[in-house]
Amino acid sequence: MTTRLHDLSGDAVGDFVRERWGGLLEEIGAGAGERYAAGEAFPRGFLARAAREGLHRLSMPKDVGGEGMGSNVWGRVLEEVTRQCDEAAFPLVVSMSTSIAFTLYQSGDAALAENYVRPLVAGELTATLGFTEDADFWSWETELTRDGEGGVLSGRKSYVTGGLLSDVFLVYAGSGEGRLAACLVRHDDPGVTLTPANGIGFQSAGMAVLTMDGVRLAPERILTWTDGLDHSQLYLNERRSMQAAWTVGRMRALVDRCAARLRTATRQGRPVLDYPNVAAGLGRMHIVTDAARTMTHDVLDRQARGETDLTYDAKISAAKHFSAEQSMLIAHEALRVLGGHAFYGDEFYGRYLRDCTGLIPAGGTQHSLEITIGNMVAKHLI
Ligand SMILES: Cc1cc2nc3c(=O)[nH]c(=O)nc-3n(C[C@H](O)[C@H](O)[C@H](O)COP(=O)(O)OP(=O)(O)OC[C@H]3O[C@@H](n4cnc5c(N)ncnc54)[C@H](O)[C@@H]3O)c2cc1C
Repeated sequence: MTTRLHDLSGDAVGDFVRERWGGLLEEIGAGAGERYAAGEAFPRGFLARAAREGLHRLSMPKDVGGEGMGSNVWGRVLEEVTRQCDEAAFPLVVSMSTSIAFTLYQSGDAALAENYVRPLVAGELTATLGFTEDADFWSWETELTRDGEGGVLSGRKSYVTGGLLSDVFLVYAGSGEGRLAACLVRHDDPGVTLTPANGIGFQSAGMAVLTMDGVRLAPERILTWTDGLDHSQLYLNERRSMQAAWTVGRMRALVDRCAARLRTATRQGRPVLDYPNVAAGLGRMHIVTDAARTMTHDVLDRQARGETDLTYDAKISAAKHFSAEQSMLIAHEALRVLGGHAFYGDEFYGRYLRDCTGLIPAGGTQHSLEITIGNMVAKHLI
């Protein structure tokens, strides 16, 4: 364990990630392109191995087996893991799981900490989110009904990140009279079915449709019968900063890859980087990536200092929004500066582009973030 992790500047976090997990990340990344083309989820075993090597526990509090380094460190490490690992789905799925572990920890429930948070931190379990079902939540099909002390859950969640790789699902459901419940469902509960889901991108992230048919839940699995909306906001708010960190890591990987290619390309007997239009394109890519990174680090630091609103933080939403927009902008720029290479010379750019389109709706649509932030500005709330 290096002491340099306490230095969050420059390349220290990158060096730390390389030293601790570099070999593993290379191994995980090695088959990424082929898996993506085949639509195969990355092997589950990588999650357990990374957890054994301490990735999941980094930011979690010490009383649940973590290293207690906080979200500012974890977000930066997540960014670096995403930058260094060519299997972009891997850090995405890890971070979904750690975000859920963190949300469950925040509840202060000792049984949840023992039965879920600790195993999630140790990598014995992986968790993800079952929220969306192609309808607004007042019209959801998923319903939790009372059954003695517990409940019975039926419904369908349409697009679950890492669904095929996860053991536990944090599911939100209608519970009557316009209320939302939150509960924990396990992949092997009777009545649970997981089927592969198709989308534009994230082909190796084990995307799934989660179907629940009369799933019986003991009372300890029901986190709340009535405050599911607030509960989901706690999760989504924290999640957005991690989504931004993932995005910045992927943007940096794109800029690195683009620069490496441009350093070796020549046209008309000259290195293409000698052409000012090409150098300027690379410069533009770096500038917006660095701005998204600075914004994301700022919210990570605010979170670590306890300065963010836990249910809806405008700066966190802005970091998610800005990084998603800029990730698409630099994909466009890469196509300009690389010529046909980005389209047919290296499949990395196709994966990048397809995945980044998903950042526009994921974690709350860009529109919804703009509307909320606009209303907050109008009311002098920010
Ligand atoms: C890559 C990716 C990963 C995902 N992973 C998961 C996951 O793990 N678990 C999960 O549960 N979900 C997941 N989702 C789903 C994601 O959370 C939703 O797609 C997202 O929240 C948007 O919801 P929606 O698709 O219902 O779109 P909608 O909210 O229906 O949006 C459709 C359009 O209507 C607009 N709109 C909707 N309501 C309003 C309103 N009140 N006022 C004004 N405009 C409005 C939106 O801005 C948008 O333009 C994932 C999605 C993607 C793309």
